Amino acid sequence: MTAAALDAAPEPDRDCPLCPRLHDFIADWRQREPSWFNAPVPTFLPPNGEDAVELLIVGLAPGLRGANRTGRPFTGDYAGDLLYSTMIAHGLARGEFKARPDDGLELIGTAITNAVRCVPPENKPVGAEIATCRSFLVPTIARFPKLRALLALGSIAHQSTVRALGQRVAAYPFKHGGQLPAGGVTLFSSYHCSRYNTNTGALTEAMFVKVFSEIASFLRN
Ligand code: URA
Repeated sequence: MTAAALDAAPEPDRDCPLCPRLHDFIADWRQREPSWFNAPVPTFLPPNGEDAVELLIVGLAPGLRGANRTGRPFTGDYAGDLLYSTMIAHGLARGEFKARPDDGLELIGTAITNAVRCVPPENKPVGAEIATCRSFLVPTIARFPKLRALLALGSIAHQSTVRALGQRVAAYPFKHGGQLPAGGVTLFSSYHCSRYNTNTGALTEAMFVKVFSEIASFLRN
């Protein structure tokens, strides 16, 4: 990792102006729902801090009524139910996930972030927003001195993570269940645990559990 990556800010400002479309979308929701978080959603860290992190999970972007409302990644919409229950079952989180940031759920050796930190309209960030927000993903990856593994959820997170690791996407194509050494860490990839993917059967619970079993076994060795 370069010194520049270590020096750069891993979290955007609350009023980050870098993506005008996302900035305006959030400004609109601040008017409509003033009690919501409505800002770039920060990386969720374990209680013992960044030195404990061996695994970084990279999601796509906050959901409007999920992380954008609550301020914690994957908290408040369906994707979090499957993600956190699977993490608890594999010793990567403890407590009870109650879909609210004050539920006391704690991550173990793991941090969770998003490829795009601001909620995008229709859950769809555009290419320029993904590229711009990578200026936060790069220093986020660099902030964990003991990082050994990354899990990208979905092809957009996978591609942005490959680029953040300084690799070429053509050399690291997305594959559900994929496991690749890249930039000094191992990159695991899964279909995103969205309700759409589980409803359509693209991702079954068994497929998701298998990815986490492989990660847990990798981290034990
Ligand atoms: N919530 C997040 O924080 N990220 C996702 O990718 C989906 C839901």
